[in-house]
Amino acid sequence: MILRAELIWTGRGELIRDGAIRIGNGHVEWVGPFDAMDVAPQAAEDLGHAILLPALINAHTHLDLSHVGRRLARTRSFSSWLKRMARARMVTVFEGHSIRKGIDHVVAGGAVAVGDVSVSGKSAPLLWRHGLVRSVVYCEIYGLDPDGAIRRAARLRHRVEGLLGRPAVRVGISPHAPYSVSPQLFARCVELAEEYALPMAIHTAESDIEVDFLTGGTGELRALLENYGLLPEGWKPPGMTPVQYLDSLGILAMKPTLIHCNYVSQAEAELLARAGCSAVHCPRSNAFFRRTADSLQTLLAAGVNVALGTDSLASNDSLSMLDEMVFLKRVHPELEWRTIFEMATVNGARALGYEQGGMLAQGLPANVAAISLPVSDGEQMEPGALDASSSVLFTMMHGRKFTGRPGVLQEMRAVTA
Ligand SMILES: [Zn+2]
Repeated sequence: MILRAELIWTGRGELIRDGAIRIGNGHVEWVGPFDAMDVAPQAAEDLGHAILLPALINAHTHLDLSHVGRRLARTRSFSSWLKRMARARMVTVFEGHSIRKGIDHVVAGGAVAVGDVSVSGKSAPLLWRHGLVRSVVYCEIYGLDPDGAIRRAARLRHRVEGLLGRPAVRVGISPHAPYSVSPQLFARCVELAEEYALPMAIHTAESDIEVDFLTGGTGELRALLENYGLLPEGWKPPGMTPVQYLDSLGILAMKPTLIHCNYVSQAEAELLARAGCSAVHCPRSNAFFRRTADSLQTLLAAGVNVALGTDSLASNDSLSMLDEMVFLKRVHPELEWRTIFEMATVNGARALGYEQGGMLAQGLPANVAAISLPVSDGEQMEPGALDASSSVLFTMMHGRKFTGRPGVLQEMRAVTA
């Protein structure tokens, strides 16, 4: 099969104009300018005014929350959202159904791999079965009570070991956040991660109330945790910012992927870059909480590997990485499209621990996102620019094309093999 399009970006280098990709046995055999391929035009499927990118990577989501959808009204308050989330989690739905719905949305949005944070880990075999084999499922654990650390860690170990023995995507662990995990539980997580070489993901420096809580032990988050009886008697704040705190616990040495990182200083960003940690930026989740500032430019300037994620449908309208890229450009117009493409592809692969992922190159699996380019209204647009009129024409996974039809995204079908 040969695909031809107005533009191709391979994951590195410049855009290729009038490019082509030859695909055989589910792998990329050749990629370059169509003219250099030396085949008749009718030999190629010409997508015309479109761009072919390496299939996108959604570096942070919670597929098991795909049933929540818009049930959680927009809110400025992170703590009231946490309260609503706790209630929403109690709604009994078949978790597998929620995960499968999430997978369909992800693929329809141009992505073929996710960094999924999951309480049960059930998404690991499901992602494997649906072909999103380069995903990572981080089993989540939390608990501030030091006495419960051994019990909680044993539960996490049991879950992880159960998944390691069966066909599933790569399994990791997610000690939830610096404000919800005790130092004792963090230490047990490090032991487990070292024993099985597990990747780690942690929600870090997401909100200002997290910073208030860790530095001074005060604010909305303290009130919330007390309200739920989750703050142990005599608990003392570490008196540090989230990143400093993780560093003091030896966590950064594990090279975790840190989700959000909205409140990070320049010195902290440099520390993360030196430690080799990745960050995952989730712009639409930030907009959901009406956060007006983020540390994206600080992280990029410091050389941190920054990936892009949608987070869950509990704080976003869709799990589409195309939507996320277009939104990121809207809130950060200073970013070049190439930087955004990198965040959504190669950086995402690196955040998930795959150095060779998120690229189109000879010998690699044919994982491609075909996206229509906007119809120009005469305005001079940056080459490769996308906007809200762009759509995912198809997502190719190992040479197979998938398309999601609007409104019936769960009925994705293989168009051609
Ligand atoms: Zn999250």
